Amino acid sequence: MRATQFFLNTLKEAPADAEVISHQLMMRAGMIKRLAGGIYTYMPVGLRSIRKVENIVREEMNRAGALELLMPAVQPAELWQESGRWEKYGAELLRLKDRHDRDYVIGPTHEEVITDVVRKEVKSYRQLPLNLYQIQTKFRDEIRPRFGVMRGREFVMKDAYSFDRNQEAALKTYDTMFEAYRRIFTRLGLNFRAVNADTGSIGGNRSHEFHVIADTGEDAIAYCPSSDYAANVELAEAVCNAQRSAAGKALEKVHTPGNSTCEAVAAQLGLSLSATVKSVVFANEFVEKDETKAVKKVQIILALVRGDHEVNDIKLGKLHGVQELRLATEAEIVAAFGTQPGYLGPLGLKGEVRVVADRSVAAMGDFVCGANAADYHYAGVNWGRDLPEPEVADIRNVVEGDASPDGQGVLAMCRGIEVGHVFYLGTKYSEALQAKFLEENGKPAVIEMGCYGIGVTRILGAAIEQNFDDRGIIWPLSIAPFEVVLCPIGYKKSEEVKLQADKLYQELKDAGVDVMLDDRDERPGVMFADWELIGVPLRVTLGDRGLKDGKVEFQSRDGKVEKRDVDVGEIFEQL
Ligand code: ATP
Ligand code: MG
Ligand code: MG
Ligand code: MG
Repeated sequence: MRATQFFLNTLKEAPADAEVISHQLMMRAGMIKRLAGGIYTYMPVGLRSIRKVENIVREEMNRAGALELLMPAVQPAELWQESGRWEKYGAELLRLKDRHDRDYVIGPTHEEVITDVVRKEVKSYRQLPLNLYQIQTKFRDEIRPRFGVMRGREFVMKDAYSFDRNQEAALKTYDTMFEAYRRIFTRLGLNFRAVNADTGSIGGNRSHEFHVIADTGEDAIAYCPSSDYAANVELAEAVCNAQRSAAGKALEKVHTPGNSTCEAVAAQLGLSLSATVKSVVFANEFVEKDETKAVKKVQIILALVRGDHEVNDIKLGKLHGVQELRLATEAEIVAAFGTQPGYLGPLGLKGEVRVVADRSVAAMGDFVCGANAADYHYAGVNWGRDLPEPEVADIRNVVEGDASPDGQGVLAMCRGIEVGHVFYLGTKYSEALQAKFLEENGKPAVIEMGCYGIGVTRILGAAIEQNFDDRGIIWPLSIAPFEVVLCPIGYKKSEEVKLQADKLYQELKDAGVDVMLDDRDERPGVMFADWELIGVPLRVTLGDRGLKDGKVEFQSRDGKVEKRDVDVGEIFEQL
């Protein structure tokens, strides 16, 4: 590729709404352009990296025996009604009507569609196992799209769905996928960790998330340095809670420092989050789509936080043994919500405000305390997730130094960006949609399923969160938009420079190297700044001075190969 034939659009400044470094750098490098909240155009330079991620994913999925297909983005509501998710999925599901007033959704995920394909096509055990995947655009109406492609509303996902004869075979497929994911994230050049995970709205009961380790990650991960144990904090909490429930019914949640959602909200409200949250539990109705109202609710919650109250013995789902707490005065709450106290049923306003847990205590706790705020959205709109009913009332936050759940050593904490997720689904969807096959003995049986997602576009953001410096992005070679950039100094002024640059460019292209020739005839400073911002891993600089002695300058973006003079003929060896 020649720069003059390419579309470069680097920026000096990142837009003000770009909170994290990857978003800032992707905007500045001209990889993405914002069209609307959480909706981006992938510009040519960005699309090159996306395609490279896709190809690695595709190669490893194929290698693991999966078959690629492509499903529609628009899906009829009937399928979602059949699975029960039309009601359960909540506001993240974008619903629309066609001209005949029929209901549709824009697919946030494809269990329903793929199960429909399989139930119609698969009749016999001889057709199993099957593992089908696609790389496709999803739409999720995230309440708070942010961080650029990391939490978009429209984004590219690889989603795979496996179909097996029985549980044993399905779990084997799960393991195969798990290994394929390890290979994928290793090839992508990412520092990652596989963690035990909650099964969320997709359901099922065996699940791992793959997290790219980064301080800006929205998820908290509890892991044990001395064993293999690693879990999303939600799950680690559930396990720890079960262990602790014997020891008492104290309720305690501790703010996790570094959580941007709650810190941002707190900052906005001028509040300090240093206080220990002793209880944050809310009822189902604590669902607020209106952002200003949500912020006001947060304000009330934070009043509680500051108050450093303590609650004991809260029973879930019922107004049972609830300790009364003073969050705010009745007048304050009425002023905030513009409604009668009675309306605030879940907050149980009766003179004093009560905090009542219904379900998903951990989720709402996270909302304030920050374990996984974004997952549940700060206003809790994503309530449709069919979280399991919590069994015990005492929910505690996992903290650094806790004993581990597997009985080996103590927990350490880090933050992660969820880039992949594998689920064993069992018969959740095949049962609901009646996807059956005839066994060898002629009897009908329900198909066992698994599903496996990878956030293709999110991976770009995650990779940058791990690899950048003050000059820009430092791409891992495998997903860089270009592998090598040639920077000729005086391309249009010096015949020798042009000759050598063109020659090297052609040779590298012929050798299959993904090379960019910067033939814009810009000053070196301008060229270098652009390619360092874009993050091309290797750079060859050609100038009259060096070429006199048959030398060019070679260096790597990550600093591992420092600037050095190399014979023109040796450049191949260096690469
Ligand atoms: P999150 O917890 O971050 O909301 P999720 O658990 O809802 O993600 P899954 O349903 O597991 O997501 O989807 C599979 C993968 O798709 C995720 O592991 C993630 O990499 C990616 N993904 C999910 N939501 C988004 C989004 N809004 N923007 C970009 N990628 C996403
Ligand atoms: Mg998740
Ligand atoms: Mg989500
Ligand atoms: Mg997930």
